Amino acid sequence: MAGKLKVRTDELETSKEKLATQADALRMAHDKLELRVQKRTEQLARINKELEEEIAEHKRDQKALKESEKKYRTQFEEALDAIFIAESETGTIIDCNQAGAELVGRAKSELIGKPQWILHPSEEIEGKLSRTFKEHLNQKEAQALETHVITKKGKTRDVSIKANIFELKGKKVVQGTFRDITDQKQAEEALRRVHEGLEIRVQERTEELTKANAQLRYEITERQAAEAELLQAKEVAETANLAKSEFLANMSHELRTPLNHVIGFTELVVDKHPGDLNETQEEYLTDVLSSSKHLLSLINDILDLSKVEAGKMEIKPSDVNLKMLVDNSLTMVKEKAMKHGIQLSADIKEIPEIITADERKLKQVIYNLLSNAVKFTPDAGTIRVETRAVDYSVRPGLRRRDPEDFRLIDPKSNKGEPAGTQLQKCVEFSISDTGIGITPEDMGRIFSPFEQVENSTSRRYQGTGLGLSLTKGLVELHGGIIWAESEGAGKGSIFRFIIPV
Ligand code: ADP
Repeated sequence: MAGKLKVRTDELETSKEKLATQADALRMAHDKLELRVQKRTEQLARINKELEEEIAEHKRDQKALKESEKKYRTQFEEALDAIFIAESETGTIIDCNQAGAELVGRAKSELIGKPQWILHPSEEIEGKLSRTFKEHLNQKEAQALETHVITKKGKTRDVSIKANIFELKGKKVVQGTFRDITDQKQAEEALRRVHEGLEIRVQERTEELTKANAQLRYEITERQAAEAELLQAKEVAETANLAKSEFLANMSHELRTPLNHVIGFTELVVDKHPGDLNETQEEYLTDVLSSSKHLLSLINDILDLSKVEAGKMEIKPSDVNLKMLVDNSLTMVKEKAMKHGIQLSADIKEIPEIITADERKLKQVIYNLLSNAVKFTPDAGTIRVETRAVDYSVRPGLRRRDPEDFRLIDPKSNKGEPAGTQLQKCVEFSISDTGIGITPEDMGRIFSPFEQVENSTSRRYQGTGLGLSLTKGLVELHGGIIWAESEGAGKGSIFRFIIPV
């Protein structure tokens, strides 16, 4: 019994130990499980948090999407441009904005669900438009396509379309933005018409100008021919004139010699050297003497003038004392002036004391003008000689026999007022009188040879009509110019001449 008990006790003991071992194992397993549960719980908590965050983000995205959709919708609706959205495959309009409906004058309900071709004039749909539209859609970047839309009432309008393809609810759609460019097109058309009109006018004008040009060219050719003829005629005339002048110079010389004999011998007879004369003989011979002297002065003038014209008279420049020259010339006419109670005066201030000129010829000029003044001034008149220094426009002398450095007064420059850049120091002489004056008609001819204002039948004044042309020739030999001024008949005259010094 005891043994049995002992065995039982041992068994119990062993069971107890086993149990204890099992309990330990169980505890350990429990602890492990606890740890795993804890870890898993932590993991789950993390995942949970991540999920929560994702949900929150999703919600935010949803909200943003809604907002963006709302914004797009507003933009879509309020856009000034017409926008149509159509299914890309079928071309059915699935949406459009108010501007789109207004562009074609239809209600939205009349458009949505209809094919997009309802928007365009039928003649443009076939071929061109659909082809261009497809090409247009294939391009990466949206480019404007210009075409027309047709309104419900049948009016066409010009539009420029930009199309984009995108996906909407799993379907490919085309969004077309239509801009009404009818006004712009009309303006362009108006401009084109104006331009075309202008082109026509330019063309017409060009034609007119071409015609005028041709006419002008013809006239120029004619003129050139006429000029050539004139030049030839001038050359002939000049040669003839030269021959005439040479002839006159020779003839005058031939005439002078016998005439000087006539004058010399007549003077001897009048002075009664060969013996006494009766009254009639003396009277007649005195007439012969005075006529011969007149003839000699005429021949002398002709000779001088011919020499000037033939270019045979030359300037012999020397230093000239102007004051003395004027005084001498005045002395030569003093006696005649006194006889007629004519007052002579001179003002020769403001000029260089000495000038370079041909003294004898300059004296002849002043003397000729002074003697004319005395001749054409009634008793008790006045005659005045004035000189002043002036700067005057000159040009190079280009006449026959002009030396290279010869300067001519430019007749185009204003009298008395210097013009141009090439100015030269000059002296202006003026001889004014209170005589018979010169009418504007006579002004043009008094410097021509043998021109006298009075005709021979009514002649009161002696003369040959050669003095002024010779005077002009002598002034021009100095490179100067001469002209006359008068306010008319009875109003006196002024003769002015300018020479470079
Ligand atoms: P003439 O020998 O006749 O004086 P001129 O050639 O000297 O010839 O002058 C031509 C004409 O010019 C004169 O006949 C006269 O009619 C006019 N004339 C010249 N000087 C004067 C003057 N001082 N006053 C008015 N007329 C003048």
